[in-house]
Amino acid sequence: MTKNTEIFLCTADKEQLELFLREQNQPAFRAAQIMDWVYHKRVFDPAMMKNLPGPLRLALAENFLCSSMRVKDTLEAEDGTVKLLLGLHDGETIEAVIIPAPGRHTFCLSTQVGCPVQCRFCASGADGLVRNLHAGEIIEQFNCCCSRLGTLPDNIVFMGIGEGLLNFDNLTRALDLICSPDGFGMAARRITVSTSGWVPGIRKLADMERQWTLAVSLHAPDDTTRAQLIPDKMRYPIDEILAACDYYREKSGRMVTFEYTLIHGINDSREHANKLAAIAATHHAKVNIIPYNQTSPEFKRPTDRAIKAFEEVLLNRKIQVTVRVEKGAKVAAACGQLRRDRSNQS
Ligand code: SF4
Repeated sequence: MTKNTEIFLCTADKEQLELFLREQNQPAFRAAQIMDWVYHKRVFDPAMMKNLPGPLRLALAENFLCSSMRVKDTLEAEDGTVKLLLGLHDGETIEAVIIPAPGRHTFCLSTQVGCPVQCRFCASGADGLVRNLHAGEIIEQFNCCCSRLGTLPDNIVFMGIGEGLLNFDNLTRALDLICSPDGFGMAARRITVSTSGWVPGIRKLADMERQWTLAVSLHAPDDTTRAQLIPDKMRYPIDEILAACDYYREKSGRMVTFEYTLIHGINDSREHANKLAAIAATHHAKVNIIPYNQTSPEFKRPTDRAIKAFEEVLLNRKIQVTVRVEKGAKVAAACGQLRRDRSNQS
């Protein structure tokens, strides 16, 4: 195997490792040892793989990207939410968040550097897409959070920076490794993939027939309102999104969640709530209301009373609804905000 800095050790499969080991005149059983370090002990740095011979540890470090991500900044809120600013091997940065709740921890992870969708209310999309994350970078990001937490999380949501379904192959490769019994062994039902409504990606994900939860950022119950929030180039008609959600539910057997960022004066009227309730009922979906976390002067968070009133309309229509409890507002929890703040300072 020639030196290839695009190969991350954490995504190298058994065949790749065995090929490499043959070239190094090492026995094939070392592949299982390396995979045990990476997936069970979550040790990515070959220097720490104590049961491997020294020359092999050096050769691994020379031939693979092993532990390429660095924590550049950490912000911790009073409620225990931790936001990590992570530096990538090429100087780019992403964010990951560890969110505590009674008895569980959730990681919120990124899938791209920047985001091509450019939702008008979102700091991550403001500068567009820089590049996709490699599957190995998604895994390293996951591992940075595990290292900080000291264990695996209870849940993962891919709701950080990026439209994950536009980085489909890398995201699903990382998801399969996170969920495989030969990988990190997490239950697929504990993973949520979020999308802004990228219809071809939803259908492709459905065809994989995994048990991942799908969360679709609907943000509006009609195309006219949605057009105020998501630019035309990336926006599918709601009817097509809903048909793709039905397809996902049929193929996976999982209820879809509609994420709904509630913004004052844009999508928070009783009429919006009634329309959303009708859509959720028809498509057997849950609704997660996310009160807007102010990142743009153009949009405002609704009052607590307005949030409650919106929720009640849905509850009265027997829709399963949650209102996201705001976590880590003081550490700039809105996705992309820390990355933007830091790059504006540099
Ligand atoms: S809300 Fe999500 S999809 Fe929209 S710009 Fe931000 S990161 Fe991208």
